[in-house]
Amino acid sequence: MKITSIIEKTVPLGSAIANSYINFSMMTGSIIAIVTDVVRDGKQIIGYGFNSIGRYACTSILRDRMIGKILNADPIDVYDEDMSNIDPFKVHKLLKKNEKPGGHGDRAHAVGAIDMAVWDVVAKIEKKPLYQVIGERFNNKLWSDKIYTYAAGGYYYETDSIERLKDELKKYIDQGFHDVKMKIGGADLKTDVKRIEAALSVVDGDGSRLMVDANGRYDMKAALECAIAIKDFGLKWYEEPLDPADFSSYAVIAEYYPGPIATGENLFSYEDARNLFRHGGLRPDRDYIQVDPPLSYGIIEFIKILNMMHYFGWANKNCIPHGGNLFCNHIVAGLKLGGNECYPGIFQPFGGFADGNIIEKSIVQLPNIPGIGYEAKSNLWKVLRQVV
Ligand code: MG
Repeated sequence: MKITSIIEKTVPLGSAIANSYINFSMMTGSIIAIVTDVVRDGKQIIGYGFNSIGRYACTSILRDRMIGKILNADPIDVYDEDMSNIDPFKVHKLLKKNEKPGGHGDRAHAVGAIDMAVWDVVAKIEKKPLYQVIGERFNNKLWSDKIYTYAAGGYYYETDSIERLKDELKKYIDQGFHDVKMKIGGADLKTDVKRIEAALSVVDGDGSRLMVDANGRYDMKAALECAIAIKDFGLKWYEEPLDPADFSSYAVIAEYYPGPIATGENLFSYEDARNLFRHGGLRPDRDYIQVDPPLSYGIIEFIKILNMMHYFGWANKNCIPHGGNLFCNHIVAGLKLGGNECYPGIFQPFGGFADGNIIEKSIVQLPNIPGIGYEAKSNLWKVLRQVV
């Protein structure tokens, strides 16, 4: 086989919403298409990827640096032994070559976007859904085609009210989600507590069906004040109260806050995640890790992180990646992780599930089609097909 071209396209992803840190009006994303000369069932194999949701496009890193590393490589460093498919381990190694350690920012997203497209090609050539390929290669063939998901929303809107928030969360419950997540930290604590109480009224007062996400807004004092204010709600988790790299403060919050804490979506490498496990004081019996594979060098890096989690005594069920995209659905199903985030109403066409997917009590079945299955999500497929 041969990769004949790799194309990047920058697309707008803007919407009039905000979390406690950023507004999303100028948001963009990078789409990658890996075009091959392989034909399956009369169709040329093209793999698609993008750099998760809620980060900016990494156009220059992809076009000026990463794509050339693959196209100019010796074929022996790109393809498997019989030259019938791409070897994702080899591509991962190629893309990290001549890159200094540390500083895992947009570069990690660029590699993650390519990794997503690589795995789409690999699974399409094998004529299997990606979750099966992942399960066969990394999880002793123990994949599932059903995953747990929850509805992430509850952002701050330019024109906002408690009623608007309740209506939004009710809509998610009506769509089949059992659990919902809302943003905090973008208003004063008193206002946020009122918002949380309103959200609780939507889930029958059951705190175990509600998550709150501060997006790293608080310093340790504010994170502790919030922890004290919300601890009796019995929430499913308290997400990113602190800067993602403020590990010793996480350890303090974990000492005082009895409920589950979730974090990790802004740690983009094995080394950064290791610091969280070493110094963050998180508790394997209740907390959640949210490392997002397309933001952190893709599946190969993620498997390394998962193995480290096991070393520190964590189970796969306590890993629920950030991102809410189709690629992560496959990773969650293939590795039987705890579940995957979903943005049902926002970040379209990149968020959500395949057309017609039915969500029942927060469980969703993935379609059994080769690759990542973009073809079954018509609004996303339309955008990807514009690339090539
Ligand atoms: Mg978050």
